[in-house]
Amino acid sequence: MAARGLRLGVGRLSEVPAALRGVGRASSSSQAFAEVLRLPRRQLTKLVCFIGRSNVGKSSLIKALFSLAPEVEVRISKKPGHTKKMNFFKVGKYFTMVDMPGYGYRAPEDFVDMVEAYLKERRNLKRTFLLVDSAVGITKLDNIAIEMCEEFALPYVMVLTKIDKSSRGHLLKQVLQIQRFVNMQTQGCFPQLFPVSAMTHSGIHLLKCFIANITGNLDLTVPSLAEDSKFFIPTGLAH
Ligand code: GDP
Repeated sequence: MAARGLRLGVGRLSEVPAALRGVGRASSSSQAFAEVLRLPRRQLTKLVCFIGRSNVGKSSLIKALFSLAPEVEVRISKKPGHTKKMNFFKVGKYFTMVDMPGYGYRAPEDFVDMVEAYLKERRNLKRTFLLVDSAVGITKLDNIAIEMCEEFALPYVMVLTKIDKSSRGHLLKQVLQIQRFVNMQTQGCFPQLFPVSAMTHSGIHLLKCFIANITGNLDLTVPSLAEDSKFFIPTGLAH
């Protein structure tokens, strides 16, 4: 027990910044210890996650997001255990994008067992992106995901995929219908919809800027940077 306590103590002290390391000698050791206790906890990596029913266009969208930002180093990893069906895209040191297993007739248990449990616990989850096929509209399965986000009070955003597929008239009708649903029947959904196409890349840049902004990596008070399509993560602007 004592050895464990010691290990913890050593670990904590190794996090003391250089400026504080000399304090103990000049002032009393209890004062130095108080300073250590006041240190901020190590920040958890910010997370955003993508959920959607199978075939909604989730993999294509994630691919499009990253293919338009080739300068960003992305590491893909799978974690063992209950998260093995999730893909983790580590975007530099800025944030991690979590690709959840698609929900649908083939994988309802996965969704309940993994996705719900995972989302409920993440305090560092900045936003959940719920993908809805714009040609189809909100389905019963999408409604289950919406109810889950509402029940767990997760801040979420609706992304309308495959907007290149429908005629302008049909797309407009769908967007208005979904917008009405968001306004009238949701609490936690971001009021702006994000219509995108992984095929034509329409809407992808705006979505990228939004992700960069909510993860604290885009300073929108610098208009030239906000407009620059090159920047997924404008390095140096990370808070
Ligand atoms: P996932 O199961 O949600 O990961 O869906 P996929 O990304 O694999 O896409 C499912 C199908 O939809 C594939 O045949 C894709 O080519 C197609 N698809 C995905 N995104 C788009 C899009 O933006 N436009 C069109 N027309 N088809 C798309």
